[in-house]
Amino acid sequence: MQSFLYNGQANTDLTGRRQTRLIFWRNKRGYAAGNPALDHSIVMPVNYITRTEINIGERVVPLVARVNRRAKRLIIKVDPVAGEILVTAPSKRTMPEAIRFANERTDWISGQLSDDLRGKPFIEGLKIPFRGVDHLILNSGGLRAPIRVEHEYLPVIRVGGEPAHINRRLTDWLKSQARQKLVERVDYYCERLGKKRGSLKIRDTRTRWGSCSSDGTLSFSWRLILAPPTILEYVAAHECVHLIHLNHAPAFWRQLAALNVDARAAANWFDNFGTTLFSYGASAAQ
Ligand SMILES: [Zn+2]
Repeated sequence: MQSFLYNGQANTDLTGRRQTRLIFWRNKRGYAAGNPALDHSIVMPVNYITRTEINIGERVVPLVARVNRRAKRLIIKVDPVAGEILVTAPSKRTMPEAIRFANERTDWISGQLSDDLRGKPFIEGLKIPFRGVDHLILNSGGLRAPIRVEHEYLPVIRVGGEPAHINRRLTDWLKSQARQKLVERVDYYCERLGKKRGSLKIRDTRTRWGSCSSDGTLSFSWRLILAPPTILEYVAAHECVHLIHLNHAPAFWRQLAALNVDARAAANWFDNFGTTLFSYGASAAQ
């Protein structure tokens, strides 16, 4: 069983984003996972998290510093949703250096904060990740022309019609692409597991990339279509295994490993890039 020395609350299911209530958190095996009372928390090799604040111009911005033993260097990230700074250090010993590192780069952080917090509605000329590859949005073609992906010279997503409608049209299209891909991958894993699923819902969730309810309903964030294919694949497999084990007991992880998906690599990806997906598209601008 997972054993926790648990202070504060967190819900880190499949996201790289830790909520601001998390203060200090550690367990004996060097892993931290989500609140054991909540389902669907992903195990991540993080074992020390601390919070502080730094001054960015006139703003006081929360800073979350944590140790990740897999990190090969100090990393500073800006969480576009929470408006906080995430600092990763490879060891507890290097933590003060990591915080100093962040304090010396307030200009850069300031730029990132204002840029990210504005959100990035889809407009012509914006580059967005699609299946993990940056694509340039171009506005050409008729009102009824279907949205097309092209790779002739550089990866392009061509959206026709009025410029003012690009954001809505592209958001709808990405949701339908996400649904199509997730249905395909989920049905593949359901067949391998010999399980039937309930309905599949595509949502714009902020705290979970996927979830499975006790009636077998599977829900996923449409933003998974922006991530590399292996990441969507992992989340699909993860939620399908919940059709058998509605928890994260060792049997769950064994079953998931038997499907040959790399939980560690996915956790690492979400840790580093997960929050960036939230800055794209319609709802980021709301
Ligand atoms: Zn789960």
